Amino acid sequence: MNIALIAHDSKKELMVQFCIAYCGVLSRHNLCATGTTGKLVAEATGLNIQRYLSGSQGGDQQIAARISCNEIDVLFFFRDPLSAKAHEPNEMTLLRLSDVHNIPVATNIATGEALIHALERGDLDWRDIVRT
Ligand code: PGA
Repeated sequence: MNIALIAHDSKKELMVQFCIAYCGVLSRHNLCATGTTGKLVAEATGLNIQRYLSGSQGGDQQIAARISCNEIDVLFFFRDPLSAKAHEPNEMTLLRLSDVHNIPVATNIATGEALIHALERGDLDWRDIVRT
């Protein structure tokens, strides 16, 4: 399964703790992330993560392009709902394309927990079958 990770600055520590807690599950999948999120998670967990550009430099658009090509199965995008981002239009595009392609997306830790347990149980394995 191909999994993408993105966290806004105020949610990066949360993403790191989440990935430490579920390192075992995540290590069984192909991971990619925006630049800083990927760096922090890789340093904290030792997970192998393909890193794209930083979100503000177009990293979320790189992930959106992979979503458009049906190359991403799950997106963990821990967002800061309280502060506006200069690249917010790109993020809206990313979320829109996730809906277009029916990608399961977690935008907060509560949905993140639900999705990671679904991954753990194999509930999303059908995505691999549909893609191949
Ligand atoms: P970053 O990008 O992981 O490179 O910080 C995510 C974001 O848009 O904040």
